[in-house]
Amino acid sequence: MSKENLSCSFCGRLKDQTDLLIAGLDAHICDRCINQAKDILVEDVSKEKTNKKEVDNLELKTPKEINTFLNQYVIGQDHAKKVLSVAVYNHYKRILNYKKIDDLEIQKSNVLLVGETGTGKTLLAQTISKMLKVPLAIVDATILTEAGYVGEDVESILTRLLQASDYKVEKAEKGIVFIDEIDKIARKSDNPSITRDVSGEGVQQALLKLLEGTIVNVPPKGGRKHPDQKFIEIDTSNILFIAGGAFDGIQREINKRLNLKEIGYKNSQNKDDLDEKNLIQYITPKDVKSFGLIPEIIGRLPVLTYMNSLDKKSLRSILTEPKNAIIKQYIKLFEMDSINLSFTPGSLDFIVDKALEYNLGARGLRSLCESILTDAMFNYPGSNKMELKITKTYAENKLSKIKITNLKAVS
Ligand code: ADP
Repeated sequence: MSKENLSCSFCGRLKDQTDLLIAGLDAHICDRCINQAKDILVEDVSKEKTNKKEVDNLELKTPKEINTFLNQYVIGQDHAKKVLSVAVYNHYKRILNYKKIDDLEIQKSNVLLVGETGTGKTLLAQTISKMLKVPLAIVDATILTEAGYVGEDVESILTRLLQASDYKVEKAEKGIVFIDEIDKIARKSDNPSITRDVSGEGVQQALLKLLEGTIVNVPPKGGRKHPDQKFIEIDTSNILFIAGGAFDGIQREINKRLNLKEIGYKNSQNKDDLDEKNLIQYITPKDVKSFGLIPEIIGRLPVLTYMNSLDKKSLRSILTEPKNAIIKQYIKLFEMDSINLSFTPGSLDFIVDKALEYNLGARGLRSLCESILTDAMFNYPGSNKMELKITKTYAENKLSKIKITNLKAVS
């Protein structure tokens, strides 16, 4: 090539179209390409640095420390708390050491929580994200449909996580996704070919890759994917997925299995030792499969645990004991107006009894308290009353004026 015809090997500009053309062994590069390459380099290095920073910011706690933290917010559910503490520990240990163990791949510890609604599944996920200071997205599996159908694509899950991470990809990639009502996307029939099951098995299939770890093009503003939209790439390999569901009627599957053959079930287990009132504790992946989750999904949610139903004692504790217990919150609210609010033990027992009587669960506790305190919250601020003691009679009187069955809708 003659000297006059020299050109940049990257952009093709001729020598006289550039300010500078540097020669290498077999190629040339112009001033513009050098500048562009420099920008790419700076961006990449800083991305790697923030990436590293996000990982460094993760403070790994031992399973026991995680459990102690959970105890401050979640009442009972000892088994779920223990299993989850270990799963969370292993998951984040895997992230923090991922470079050192590249010859041995450690599988993700995504979790499946089975238990009635209102028993603390979401609360567990929220508490873990609070403790680790990682973003959390809570999504409902029922809004998801197979791509191309009315509803949201599974990628929208990651849009939520991105939003919860202030659009910082590195942060989102270490976050937690809680998928609620996973049982609602169970296969509707045993024969998947009968009808198109766009919100059932199709969604399960779409979720597989996400759960396992893949790079997904996420529409940052959500909605359907369309060709002109700019996407953000998110790698889901280090995102912890916690799926929860009530799995109504799964006890039947457990019962069936336990009564069939005992083989494989702790061989020595004697049927007489079974606690038949609380069969959920014997749940195995097989029961979840019989319920209608496909084996591939179950395999990608390898940590399976259960939530107990809340009895009177647990509900009573939930009212007053957690760090941000409902009663503590109301006392604080009144305190801000310099009003001293207190509850007699009788009034608290009464609230719990009503929650049980009307089957309102833990969520109903707040609606009951709200109904009891609304009048006072309206009348006290700005008055010169500085003291309010809630007795059983006071609570009874306030609740007699409302239709308690309506509270379920409020909660
Ligand atoms: P789920 O996700 O199982 O339907 P949630 O976690 O949303 O239930 O629980 C609803 C509310 O009930 C929580 O915000 C919390 O106030 C209360 N609650 C439920 N279970 C517990 C629990 N085990 N300990 C403390 N509070 C609980």
